[in-house]
Amino acid sequence: MWRYLIVISVLYFLQILPNALAKPTVEGSATTETGKEPIETPTLAPTIKSKESEGEPTTGLGITKPAPSRRDAFSVAKPPSQADSLSTSSPGAKNFLVAIDIGHTKNQGGAISARGMSEYVFNERLGRELFNSLQAAHQFQSLLINPSGGDISLVKRAQVANERSADLLIAIHHDSVKDSFLKEWVFGQKPEKYCDDFHGFSIFFSRQNVAAEQSEAFAMQLGEALVKASFAPTLHHLAQEHRPIIDRVRGIYAFDDLLVLKNAKMPAVLLECGVIVNRNEEEDLNSIEYRARMIAAIESAISAFAAAGEGSSRH
Ligand SMILES: [Zn+2]
Repeated sequence: MWRYLIVISVLYFLQILPNALAKPTVEGSATTETGKEPIETPTLAPTIKSKESEGEPTTGLGITKPAPSRRDAFSVAKPPSQADSLSTSSPGAKNFLVAIDIGHTKNQGGAISARGMSEYVFNERLGRELFNSLQAAHQFQSLLINPSGGDISLVKRAQVANERSADLLIAIHHDSVKDSFLKEWVFGQKPEKYCDDFHGFSIFFSRQNVAAEQSEAFAMQLGEALVKASFAPTLHHLAQEHRPIIDRVRGIYAFDDLLVLKNAKMPAVLLECGVIVNRNEEEDLNSIEYRARMIAAIESAISAFAAAGEGSSRH
């Protein structure tokens, strides 16, 4: 009899043991930024001018171009935090995730300001300040796309937001005018180009974005908030590029083929914060108080948009 019991016990033990051994270990945190950035080849030909390769709204022609090879843009397997930096969730934070895209890169800096500064420097500074402000407010989660300023395609920028299921994408840029409007002056003993005839912000959205209606709705809220905070829109994209203007009062244009906007799977807008070839506006944008006022307006628009979307099927 005892032999029979031993056989039963052994059989029972053999059944339990593999299960005990197979118990999963605790998963590591995926939110820490530890991954080393892989070398990523630019997906656009180097002969394309930097402003065009970034889909700069101020360039009138050559914006509509085929998306870079999807295989190239999408095939790089990457851990979560390579091309972005994600906020840590705070106890009171809502789940609404705002993706902030810093326009252009260190190598392809976009427009050049009246004092010879790269647009990227302006985009990085205001984008980061907006990110920090959202972090401090603990109202939403936020995500900074391409914080290191490395080479990244426009499609990939949208993909980072898509992968994180962001609820809203805001691309931060600073504006220029068509080359034919630029004049020369000397600053810091160097010849530079400027144009004081245009100033103000512009907002672009793509009617080809899957959430085009919501993109437009956010563009309206953003324009409204900026006007309320005493910022004025510029209408020069209509005259200089024949860009379809949707709302003159709020400075809203349709820019359907802008890759970062049309590839985003959530409401998305591109904000040109101001015209940096305008000598006065460049100085304004270099003022921390001026930027803080603009960031407060952007945040109030995000709040209004997130509140309106609560309970909707957006996710
Ligand atoms: Zn730009």
